[in-house]
Amino acid sequence: ATPTSIMVGTGRAAESGILFKGGEHLEGTHQLNAIVLDKTGTVTKGKPEVTDFSGDQEALQLLASAEKGSEHPLAGAIIAYATENEMDFLEVEEFIAIPGHGIEARISGKQILVGNRKLMTDHQVDIENNEETLVKFESEGKTAMLIAIDGEYRGIVAVADVIKESAIQAIKELKEQGLEVFMLTGDNERTAHAIAKQVGINQVIAQVLPEEKADRVKEIQAQGKKVAMVGDGVNDAPALVTADIGIAIGTGTEVAIEAADVTILGGELLLIPKAIRISHATIRNIR
Ligand code: ADP
Ligand code: MG
Repeated sequence: ATPTSIMVGTGRAAESGILFKGGEHLEGTHQLNAIVLDKTGTVTKGKPEVTDFSGDQEALQLLASAEKGSEHPLAGAIIAYATENEMDFLEVEEFIAIPGHGIEARISGKQILVGNRKLMTDHQVDIENNEETLVKFESEGKTAMLIAIDGEYRGIVAVADVIKESAIQAIKELKEQGLEVFMLTGDNERTAHAIAKQVGINQVIAQVLPEEKADRVKEIQAQGKKVAMVGDGVNDAPALVTADIGIAIGTGTEVAIEAADVTILGGELLLIPKAIRISHATIRNIR
């Protein structure tokens, strides 16, 4: 590889908003044959909004107050919704995030749980009667969260995030370039499949705990593939490091950007097939 052509390649990429940390990653990009995209904030805009709430006023107040302790985009959606409904937030006495499952808080001496089925069943909350509602929301690509107060089911809140407009085209181009495309998420199977379908991805790896994302990348590498991982979150950082090429979304967290080999400005997914084209053109010139 001539250093000059590498410099020209990374320079061309940078002009387009593709920031390679080093010239060697251009060679790595040239070799890719699989790509794993995180769902929230990568395939979707990462700005979810509450679409449905069922439960009484107390449930909403405890739900929204509890979410004040969370930095998750889902929490942001719930807090915004409660604020629009002129909520008086209560003081949170205790708070813990349960990665991949939800949150637990103590407010006014009451225990609040907000999260998925697993969180509820782990706390012996009876949610049997809600399966149909959950399935309906999830089939629409929404993330549904259950609310329990002092161990009793008290409501459900559904949140929707929209896909990035250019995701469909970007994924089409990646497939045409011969890459196998996967979507990876902590969200449930049904929601994940509904979103994946909208953008043309058929290989979905769902219900992955944050600490397992890197292992899923390793499994694809074990099939002999050169894998790119694309992500925006703190949770994605280990997978970005593990992948042959880690690609951070420029609008994502500092942690993800630091862990990655490449950053795409503005989170524009079309820059990924473009990066691959530039890598091919550069490496062709070298050989
Ligand atoms: P993602 O990969 O989509 O960011 P996470 O692993 O962060 O997913 O979360 C997985 C699931 O855990 C969510 O779909 C939701 O059901 C639950 N969850 C996570 N954070 C919260 C929260 N702050 N409030 C309620 N539920 C949450
Ligand atoms: Mg994300």
